Amino acid sequence: MIPTYPRRRRRRLAVACLIAASAAAGCSSSSGSGWPRKAATTTRPATPSQDAHAKAVPGKPERDPAERAAAEARAAVEAEAARAEAERVARTAREAAARTWGLATPPLVAPAPPATKPVLVDNGQHVIVRPGLPPVVRRVPTTDKVVFLTIDDGAEKDPDFSRMLRELNVPVSAFVSDYLARTDYGYFRDLQAHGVAVNNHTLNHKDLRKLGGDALRREVCGQQDSLEKQIGVRPKLFRPPYGEYTAEALAIARSCGVTAVPLWNEEAFPDRVEYRYGDHKLQSGDIILTHFRGTDTWKGSMADMLRRVLREVTGQGFALARLEDYL
Ligand SMILES: [Zn+2]
Repeated sequence: MIPTYPRRRRRRLAVACLIAASAAAGCSSSSGSGWPRKAATTTRPATPSQDAHAKAVPGKPERDPAERAAAEARAAVEAEAARAEAERVARTAREAAARTWGLATPPLVAPAPPATKPVLVDNGQHVIVRPGLPPVVRRVPTTDKVVFLTIDDGAEKDPDFSRMLRELNVPVSAFVSDYLARTDYGYFRDLQAHGVAVNNHTLNHKDLRKLGGDALRREVCGQQDSLEKQIGVRPKLFRPPYGEYTAEALAIARSCGVTAVPLWNEEAFPDRVEYRYGDHKLQSGDIILTHFRGTDTWKGSMADMLRRVLREVTGQGFALARLEDYL
């Protein structure tokens, strides 16, 4: 807290000075913000034609335009000060939450979501597009410095992890299998209530390459129905177990409301992030896979996993963004 006081004092001094500058003439400042120059322009001497006009209309207050300009300048200065203060408060809260969860650096904040979702064009590697089938995506085409964290299955329902997501305000997407999630769909309803989209990962987590027809439809569309009933939202995104699928599986998924099939380029664990490519670098739009798992199968908790992911993501200059805003 202590280091913030001088900054606040400087800002208040600058605001006071600038208000004075806009109301009267001249108040030199070395703050370097753009404000003083802007305020100073409102107090420059009237031009000869303005003087002539003022004399031609007796009784009209000569300083009206200047006062109006000064009021506008004051309002602009106050709005900027309020914006800066709100930003400072938000940054302080982010830093405090980061410290609480053992992060030296707060997560970067994602830019505003794109006005329109990126167009998906087949590139044979990160985006696979086949006519009539939902696109399969490992990396979303975007230049935003964002990556996406996606969490599969649903065995572990860790309340600390849920709290950590909320307090750090980082977006993730869930892909749940009914056979694991159904012991407590309330956990996922709570995640969804805090902005986590809960997507389809089939009813029973079978290898879809070994299924066809009605059995395949039951696995995929059955979980669409189940999630609509349990969570209240019919998912648009579907992830096949093991990342394995057939054209028939994609066609069936599309028939029951799926618009895209996100896979992944990285997989995260509490103690490491594994990369598909040898350069070990995240790229804009990369999708990261992890799981709802606990210390029974991992060398750490889900909170440890998220800490590991955020150190990697923030360290490489990326923010986590919401996959559903892009796909
Ligand atoms: Zn899975």
